Amino acid sequence: MESEWLRAGSIVVQQQALKDFAQAMANFFGGTHRRPTWRKRGQGEGFRIVAVKAGDVRRLSGNVGAVKVPKVGWVRFRWSRAVPDGVKSYRITRDRAGRWHVAFAAIPDPIPVPGTGEAVGVDRGVAVSAALSTGEMLNAPGLRDPEKVRLLRLLRKLARAKRGSNRRGKVKRAIAKLKARETDRRKDWVEKTSTDLARRFDVIAVEDLKIRNMTTSAKGTIEARGRNVRQKAGRNRLIMAAAWGQLVQRLEHKAPERVAKVNPAFTSQRCSACGIVDAKSRESQADFRCRSCGYACNADVNAARNIKLAAGHAVSAREGPRVAGPVHREPQRDLLLVG
Ligand SMILES: [Zn+2]
Repeated sequence: MESEWLRAGSIVVQQQALKDFAQAMANFFGGTHRRPTWRKRGQGEGFRIVAVKAGDVRRLSGNVGAVKVPKVGWVRFRWSRAVPDGVKSYRITRDRAGRWHVAFAAIPDPIPVPGTGEAVGVDRGVAVSAALSTGEMLNAPGLRDPEKVRLLRLLRKLARAKRGSNRRGKVKRAIAKLKARETDRRKDWVEKTSTDLARRFDVIAVEDLKIRNMTTSAKGTIEARGRNVRQKAGRNRLIMAAAWGQLVQRLEHKAPERVAKVNPAFTSQRCSACGIVDAKSRESQADFRCRSCGYACNADVNAARNIKLAAGHAVSAREGPRVAGPVHREPQRDLLLVG
């Protein structure tokens, strides 16, 4: 994962970011400048340090740690959560509230295969975060209703606050705090859910979103009417997409070689009982009712079952002809893209 991230960007840019950070920290500690900020203010700025050695992270006291940043030296940080053993990389970022963060990444040990022969299909749902082929519906927690109200109020306040004012800074920090709470809850859910799935099932089948992203356009924006509605829907969608991406990534860490990514085409329109594809079977966002065989089910669960079936076909295609099993009406070769 780390090397992938490095390959995605230019090495030079990262060295430059590191130099910038080194200079900014030197200025800051030298007392000649204020706390470092990036030229392009906003989201997602940061860089990753890889090949971390054992002694590069130290705990100085109960809530203070220090990390050795190349070309910068020891940088102290607030020890807000446990630093995993055998840490190999970390990422330094600056949030919207202007605070620097250091996040240590650890690839968890793979969870042993349960050996039950059971597979599960997981669908990224619309109404729920994830639907399982077993019929279970999993919901990633977000902000509670009063917190959502508060966030909206703060966002409105922010729009009215003067640039550079104290009030604006205060509002920004309050917003960042709420969003951090949301992120923490989501991460917690991702950890618990990925562990649970890896323990219960031999094979976990999910949609390959690379394919989905290529085929979906600006779907969804049409239904959202009004600016606020669209904004809110957009934010929720982004959060759900982020949670989903994290879930799949964690599954791949915890259940390596056991995550099957299948082509998402028609998973929501195909009947998981008889295999007929019919766009009209999806009666609403929540309900699926097959017009051929009458099978009725939650739409997301039906999709999850199709995902499970698609993975089963791909596995059996690799292992040779299957003797028995559900008969499908169309060839489903090449569905498994990543083993
Ligand atoms: Zn059917």
